[in-house]
Amino acid sequence: MAVVSERFDGLGLADPRKTYRLGIMGGTFDPIHIGHLACAEQVREIYGLDAVIFVPAGNPVFKRDKQVTSPEHRLAMCRLAVASNPAFDASSIEIERGGDTYTVDTLRQLKAHYPANVELHFITGADAVFSIVKWRESSEIAKLAQLIGVTRPGYELSAEKKRYLAERSDFSVSYTEVTALAISSSALRERVRAGKSIRYLVMQSVLDYIAEHGLYAC
Ligand code: ATP
Ligand code: MG
Repeated sequence: MAVVSERFDGLGLADPRKTYRLGIMGGTFDPIHIGHLACAEQVREIYGLDAVIFVPAGNPVFKRDKQVTSPEHRLAMCRLAVASNPAFDASSIEIERGGDTYTVDTLRQLKAHYPANVELHFITGADAVFSIVKWRESSEIAKLAQLIGVTRPGYELSAEKKRYLAERSDFSVSYTEVTALAISSSALRERVRAGKSIRYLVMQSVLDYIAEHGLYAC
């Protein structure tokens, strides 16, 4: 079977009677920054996740009209960023699948790969949670994975939107607050373009990769 994660391909096999919790962090990661990493680490701790896999989107449907860095560069940066955390990994499954990226396909692929004692927890910013209901086969997504909506500075979900989501009986989201890190990839790209420093906002290895490959410079 194809490798979904080099570190966690065998998750669930050690003890078939135990339930393992796998966090999935999807995104464009253009580039991956410490906001993503701190968020995943805190969610891992709060929900007792055994592992978190970062899955960079191959061809993000919502960013079709925008210029996105090549999948190979985004994956390479994810791999560098997660290397120092033994509970993290990066996966190329969305990139290898090609075509448009749909979360439902990714979750199906993961569900098929892992044994039944592995639970999937899909981690997403609260800003993105609301748009999930508009995603392809959204109720199927909710069946395949627990949804964890993380509050992010400036992107809190209004009470009205939370109510709207709660009223959809096929959809259940747990909301979690993590230490606020008001960083976004777009702001980082903008800073690089303007010749400003992004040191300490991304992992040093990612900073070096960006410099080496001249990413985001123009
Ligand atoms: P962009 O500015 O290009 O949209 P981004 O920083 O939002 O980039 P994405 O790749 O779009 O990064 O996000 C991946 C996931 O991480 C999404 O679920 C998003 O809501 C979440 N996320 C992004 N930035 C943060 C942050 N600072 N803290 C917590 N979660 C974040
Ligand atoms: Mg975003």
